[in-house]
Amino acid sequence: MLNLVLFGPPGAGKGTQSEKLIQKYQLVHLSTGDLLRSQIAAGTELGLRAKSLMDQGLLVPDEVVIGMIENKLTENQQAPGFIFDGFPRTVKQAEALDTLLTLHGTGITTMVALVVDEEELIRRLLKRGETSGRPDDKDEATARRRVSVYNSETMPVAEHYAQQGKYAAISGIGTIDDIFELVCQKIQQAQLS
Ligand code: ADP
Repeated sequence: MLNLVLFGPPGAGKGTQSEKLIQKYQLVHLSTGDLLRSQIAAGTELGLRAKSLMDQGLLVPDEVVIGMIENKLTENQQAPGFIFDGFPRTVKQAEALDTLLTLHGTGITTMVALVVDEEELIRRLLKRGETSGRPDDKDEATARRRVSVYNSETMPVAEHYAQQGKYAAISGIGTIDDIFELVCQKIQQAQLS
């Protein structure tokens, strides 16, 4: 199995790279941001509770996203692998993911981080906000809060996988195809090791 964590701050390009990786490796894409937005669109209780936190650029509770991932892993037992996008976002989520994958007889192959400096991220998020309609991309204060939440709560997840020898970083600045090439190289290296 190939289980990839695509890691990086909001606006790093995880969604874009995920689409290409899914095609190449036939992986099931698990984006907690997408899963939460579909709960909001469906008007569920969970969606309603998540929406106000997301709109403010804050994280939704660990239990909520861990529960969603648990369901998806169970639903997709025959998948050749998974790409985790926007998850895990806290060390607690990473520990829960490791436990769930162990229960399913598998584990994370590697984490690949897309590195982009903060000013470029803010530029990309505000630009995306012009067309995406996403409330959390619309104003600069919210974009900056999301990057700051990433720095304080999510960055430690990189160390979690580095300690397991499962961490690789590449620059997220360049053409989509060049970045894709680098991500694929890191995956190959991890599969060989
Ligand atoms: P981006 O990668 O552009 O930041 P996402 O679509 O991954 O955006 O996430 C949007 C929002 O959804 C986050 O700011 C957060 O409020 C919520 N969210 C998504 N994934 C998680 C997660 N794993 N844990 C907590 N909150 C999450």
